[in-house]
Amino acid sequence: MKQLEERIRRDGQILSDTVLKVDSFLNHQVDTGLALEIGREFGRIFADERITKVLTIEASGIQFAMAAGIALGVPFVYAKKKKAVTQGEEVYSAEVYSFTKRETYQVSISRNYLGPGDRVLIVDDFLATGAALIGLTDIVAESGAKLAGVGCVIEKSFQEGRGLLEERGIRVQSLARIAAMSPGHVQFVDEESLVH
Ligand code: 5GP
Repeated sequence: MKQLEERIRRDGQILSDTVLKVDSFLNHQVDTGLALEIGREFGRIFADERITKVLTIEASGIQFAMAAGIALGVPFVYAKKKKAVTQGEEVYSAEVYSFTKRETYQVSISRNYLGPGDRVLIVDDFLATGAALIGLTDIVAESGAKLAGVGCVIEKSFQEGRGLLEERGIRVQSLARIAAMSPGHVQFVDEESLVH
């Protein structure tokens, strides 16, 4: 998605070779027009998948799941992060290791909002190590729903997440794929051939 790549170049802050800060337009302050366009793009990509529900994880996936849900005309559900799951049978839950916070936490969603009749699109802001998204795919599997695919706003293609998801046979669609980055420089996957 060209508009997104241009915005990352203009307003993204590359803090290191692995961490990109986009909190001025994507995940703290949110450019609502861009978020809606991102949702429409996911809607176009997954239009033929008969999606019944979009699933994400709080907090930074919510605006994109909502935008994708609007585009596809379906509800979205977000997994909540909590230290311990006390409701037992009433929730599906999975453990996730956070790349940015360097801690393990549990995510859960109510069993009322996902089940065998659903076809699910998982959406998130970043795909890095894949831990968050794999946690969500575990929840989808536990629920008996069918996973149609994963949509990421930004994929750091030099990290292992895409490979781990594809190993599980999951369709991964990212709107901006970063091949490499360092402070002051970002290279997208589709530009790799231009660099040689
Ligand atoms: P993963 O589980 O794929 O390693 O990372 C998923 C989560 O970590 C994302 O939802 C995002 O919130 C956060 N994250 C991973 N890499 C970055 C990054 O470079 N920048 C920011 N802002 N968040 C990231």
